[in-house]
Amino acid sequence: MTVPRSQGELSPAPYVIAYRRPRVPMSRRGSTIARAMGIRPPSLRARRATRGNTPEATTSARMKAVRQSGTAPELRVRRLLTNAGLRYRICPDDLPGRPDLANKSRHWALFVHGCFWHAHPNCRLATVPKTNRAFWIEKLTANRARDATKARALRKLGYKVVTVWQCELDDPKLPQTLPRRLTSSSTRRRS
Ligand SMILES: [Zn+2]
Repeated sequence: MTVPRSQGELSPAPYVIAYRRPRVPMSRRGSTIARAMGIRPPSLRARRATRGNTPEATTSARMKAVRQSGTAPELRVRRLLTNAGLRYRICPDDLPGRPDLANKSRHWALFVHGCFWHAHPNCRLATVPKTNRAFWIEKLTANRARDATKARALRKLGYKVVTVWQCELDDPKLPQTLPRRLTSSSTRRRS
């Protein structure tokens, strides 16, 4: 059923609404655009890291700064440890490799690894993409090597290094086994 348009009603087409875009200072434009696109603007840490303008240094510093913390798997592990009464610090800056969680007095460090990105051996989630295979193999191998370097540096300081894999998170026994893994037989080496 169509309602006849009454004489006084305005038809929408010929009216152009005068619209002025709000002025955004040049210095903030990047982040405004990013926000409009749904991208989070760079963190303070990232901005600090990129203040110097040498290209190599900045790229590496930026990559380091955008390292994610508080991903869903990580939150699950944190909750699990809290429930088990274990205390930890999140991403302590003063430890080599910045483990996801660590306890300095108990000398353990924990990484929560995604099976794909960290190439979990013999895991169904650790696949290599079919396109650009060579690129991916090189990248994932480098990720693994980096993980090993980090773990080595921590062990050198006397830390027990535990990795929780993404695929382990669904294991119903994890709430019992993980605290045990962290607290048992600390392979501490005193120098
Ligand atoms: Zn896995």
